[in-house]
Amino acid sequence: MTGVTDRTDTAPEPADLTDPRAAERSAVVDLAAIRHNVRTLRTRVAPAALMAVVKADAYGHGMLPVATAALEAGADWLGVAHVSEALVLRRAGLDAPLLAWLHTPATDFAAAVEAGIDLGVSGWELEPIAAAAAAAGRTARVHLKIDTGLGRNGCTAEEWPVLVRAALDHEAAGRLRLVGVFSHLAVADEPVRPETDAQVAAFRAAVAIAEDAGARLEARHLANSPAILTRPDTHFDLVRAGVSLYGLSPLAGISSAELGLTPAMTLRAAIANVKHVPAGQGVSYGLRYRTGTASALALVPVGYADGVPRIATDAPVLIDGQRHTVAGRIAMDQFVVDLVDPVPSDPAALLGADAVLFGDPATGAPAVEEWADAAQTINYEVVTRIGSRVPRVYRNDGAAR
Ligand SMILES: *Cc1c(COP(=O)(O)O)cnc(C)c1O
Repeated sequence: MTGVTDRTDTAPEPADLTDPRAAERSAVVDLAAIRHNVRTLRTRVAPAALMAVVKADAYGHGMLPVATAALEAGADWLGVAHVSEALVLRRAGLDAPLLAWLHTPATDFAAAVEAGIDLGVSGWELEPIAAAAAAAGRTARVHLKIDTGLGRNGCTAEEWPVLVRAALDHEAAGRLRLVGVFSHLAVADEPVRPETDAQVAAFRAAVAIAEDAGARLEARHLANSPAILTRPDTHFDLVRAGVSLYGLSPLAGISSAELGLTPAMTLRAAIANVKHVPAGQGVSYGLRYRTGTASALALVPVGYADGVPRIATDAPVLIDGQRHTVAGRIAMDQFVVDLVDPVPSDPAALLGADAVLFGDPATGAPAVEEWADAAQTINYEVVTRIGSRVPRVYRNDGAAR
């Protein structure tokens, strides 16, 4: 297991479905799917290397188990937004190359340098990082970020030669190693748009300026998931895979299966109540839904406190092999499903049965994209916002078997 040490001492206790909390509600994460996606993406981008982006608790999937599985399957790097996230990975014993790119003046650069965390630098960070390295008698590892058009973080083209010069001066003095140059794309999920071409050209120009100034770069990186899947000319030395690592498609109208990816997360809960009701029964706050016929209502014990989007009325739910639809408003802790089309033969028998909100469509589960559409958002947001009250349950934890 490259890049993983002392895992048995540091891994969180995995929940399993016999744990009553996890039996009631869980986000089941299939680590075999994560490993499959890593292998698929690596093959696709070779000879470029793959960074597994595990920020935001691995988009809600659980940072340490996902990072471990990704490294087992051959991911070369880990990536996060914050140094605080990177430190959690290092403290868990993961020693793979690791980049953090979003900092403030309050960021603990000394701890990052001490822990061997590579740091993205857009400008102002260079001097405090060099100072932290000098104070510790260490060499910081830095990736300079050029803004090629996203207008978020990154150095402007105008300031770039000065930033490159300053970094190379610090490198000559032994305070840092200029490891990489990177940038982030704005519209790669819309392959017909022309701006990506301009961003690629601006990136090449920035890399050329750095190399002409004497930079010996190991990692030039630009591609996020949509660019990995649609733009081989963005792969360079390293790609940064986020949503695709989790088996989700970043491209509108193209499914996970069409991309050869397997969605890793299934969100399910045990049905908490089932009852027969007459036609015209109002359902949930506001009574925005009324049953059209005599039917049965199933109560699903997850709500917006668990990250289930409140506006996703009409989202699909799989119960006993049948797709049904959310009925009425989603509340803090629960929502209701009207068991019609078809009405089950014995609704009462469904008490305690699984209601599956989303998962891998290959298993019959609704796709997370159906929930994203119902909530007027994207698959990224739906999985990432699943809350801490929902236990994560890991399937196919290779290290444990
Ligand atoms: C989050 C992030 C990624 C991953 O993007 P996906 O579209 O999820 O693959 C890559 N690079 C940077 C800088 C990011 O912030």
